[in-house]
Amino acid sequence: MSAAELDLSQPAIVVEDLRRSFGALKAVDGVSFSINHGSVVGFVGANGAGKTTTMRILATLDHPSSGIAKVGGHNVVHYPAKVRRLLGWMPDSFGTYEHMTVLEYLDFYARALGYKGAERVQRIQEVMDFTDLTPLADRLSNKMSKGQTQRLCLGRALLHDPQILIMDEPAAGLDPKARVELKRLIRILADEGKTILISSHILSELGEMCDTLLFIDKGRIVHHGDAESMTRTSATPETLVNVQISGEPAKLIEWALTAPLVKVVDETKRGARLRIESTDEAVLAGTLKRMIIDGLLVTDFHREERRLEDAFIDMLGQIDKGSFKGETAGNVTPQIPPPLPPQ
Ligand code: ATP
Repeated sequence: MSAAELDLSQPAIVVEDLRRSFGALKAVDGVSFSINHGSVVGFVGANGAGKTTTMRILATLDHPSSGIAKVGGHNVVHYPAKVRRLLGWMPDSFGTYEHMTVLEYLDFYARALGYKGAERVQRIQEVMDFTDLTPLADRLSNKMSKGQTQRLCLGRALLHDPQILIMDEPAAGLDPKARVELKRLIRILADEGKTILISSHILSELGEMCDTLLFIDKGRIVHHGDAESMTRTSATPETLVNVQISGEPAKLIEWALTAPLVKVVDETKRGARLRIESTDEAVLAGTLKRMIIDGLLVTDFHREERRLEDAFIDMLGQIDKGSFKGETAGNVTPQIPPPLPPQ
């Protein structure tokens, strides 16, 4: 029922200069981005950065103070009913009803969506099969684990087979097994061609799962690109090395504090991850040589990929200092298509 309303000539999601203030607080402060059909996009930012506020506006649950948001080609403020037909919304927390089983819960929402008779029964069964809830059909919906509850929430969001899914922190609080399972379901939905915008704090997982990452900081988009481009966004050439020594790791930290071009990224159990401000192999070899000459008993020294978390924290530091050289809100703008004709 949703595909008919989807305007494929326009991006799946378009946000232009979106703003939302709560009193003096600018929760969303001029956010612009566009998401193509079939993309899986991670929405990343610190607590309070403006992710939920942006997503709630896209889900027609809140109005922007100014700016434009379109889902499936429809303005979320002017055509909320059309948007809701196209969109599956998975909030970061949701209520279940006491004394209502999983089946009754899904049946309630399927009826609210207008499904009738055999079609309703079939749709509920499809959703329960997909989310592996069939064995739990008779379980009281408020008596389930966090992972099972999240699957029910996803099932509810999928009942009307939406083409576009917005998921706010779906992996929060899930154990590793439940996270893997959720990731698998998201991958299947992506392979079906659905467009997915998903927020999370678990950057490494988002990097694996998403085609692009959208970074938001203090209500502004600071980067939109793939995970690789994110990890390349560094102000200076650098190499990360993981070093292990025999003996107290503190010795290595102490050594790093005075060594030229070397900074400690974090301590590990047997040593530290170090940032060497060079990509020159002679410098790397020279650093290892100096460690040994200075008496450190080095048992392991290997290069590491820059982690998304490091890149993000680094980028925020650069923004604060005004030295950020990556994609800022300004140069994300070219990804926005030209103004669209009124609907
Ligand atoms: P988190 O990762 O913690 O969920 P977030 O990036 O989703 O954070 P938002 O929930 O969008 O951030 O909040 C952005 C800012 O707006 C925060 O400072 C928050 O306190 C504020 N805010 C959000 N909703 C409201 C509201 N209804 N009234 C007042 N302030 C609000």
